[in-house]
Amino acid sequence: MEIRSVERLAALTGREAAPELQPVLDAYPVRLTEHALELVRRSPAAALQYMPDLRELDPPGETDPFVGLARTGVRGVERIYRDRCVVMPVSRCNVGCRFCFRRHHGMLRHARPMDREEIAAALAYIAADPRLREVLITGGEPLLDRGRLAQLLSGLRRPETAHVGPIRLACRSLATAPELVDPELVTLLARHQDLRAGRPVEVAAHVNHPDELGPATVQALARLREAGLHVYNQTVLLRGVNDAPEVMSDLLWGLRRHGVETYTIFFCEPVLGADHLRVSFAEALRLKDELRRRGSGRRNPHLVVTTRVGKLELGVDGWEVEREADGRTVWLRTPYTLDGLRELDPALTLPAGTRLDGAGQLVVRYLDGPSCPRGDPK
Ligand code: SF4
Repeated sequence: MEIRSVERLAALTGREAAPELQPVLDAYPVRLTEHALELVRRSPAAALQYMPDLRELDPPGETDPFVGLARTGVRGVERIYRDRCVVMPVSRCNVGCRFCFRRHHGMLRHARPMDREEIAAALAYIAADPRLREVLITGGEPLLDRGRLAQLLSGLRRPETAHVGPIRLACRSLATAPELVDPELVTLLARHQDLRAGRPVEVAAHVNHPDELGPATVQALARLREAGLHVYNQTVLLRGVNDAPEVMSDLLWGLRRHGVETYTIFFCEPVLGADHLRVSFAEALRLKDELRRRGSGRRNPHLVVTTRVGKLELGVDGWEVEREADGRTVWLRTPYTLDGLRELDPALTLPAGTRLDGAGQLVVRYLDGPSCPRGDPK
């Protein structure tokens, strides 16, 4: 459902929706599934992921903080790494996450999905490059069109793409519409997994708050695990949602109890309209220390920043080398080199917002999150 007025928002969610929020809804309507609406009604912290906020009209941030190097010339296929690429068969989502880096792409509401010919072109692109070892199917929400998903899965298991081992399926619906993970879907995924041939199918969940681990989500996770499918979680670190150590700790334990690998905590990207949900590097590193003190290393995720040249684990293979006078613009040393990027695009010049350090590593400009709560509800 799409909610475009404060009156309807208040009536449906049971939450206060001030008239001043109408311009925010005009720019960014609220999109919810029935399942997410129920979550919004009962969990104030989890609701912050979907509810409008006046600060969404504040200026810090970019409309396209990530995509840039990822063009492949094949619609629906993005790639910035040598050994893996992303395919997006479905461009729309069933929810509108306020922090999403694709929120300005128009894709979450109306971009058309890949058609059969475009999926065939994506499969031909993958078949032609034996350097590709993994494929990530994402979106939008790939579970919204099972036919396209089936076409892609079966194409990726043909002999021409024998170099592709793991297929990863990223789906937010485990938290927002778990009924989509029904026995038929699980059978479809399991049918395309062949562990003896080194061809697993993995599901990347996106659960951000312990309140999202309700009975329907737990049942869907159990279905996947019982079918022998590996499930890992990617959490986005969000102010007021999961930045408190006790909340993040509960989430990680909850996932672990249900057999989910707690793989990453991603920084919310510097996307325009999401600044109020972002957390600074300093706060995140303190949270990481606190998680380490509180629990087993088996449940402690990697703390990852997504930059325009690729992902880095903060303090491990990437770190801050300079902070500008505004206090928030930082330069991050990355594990990537220009030569490495040129393996994918020989004509590539130094991307905007990057420079090379003395060792030839790419250093990238990045907007750190705000370091004070600015009155966010906890
Ligand atoms: S479900 Fe994923 S792609 Fe869709 S709005 Fe949320 S974060 Fe973005």
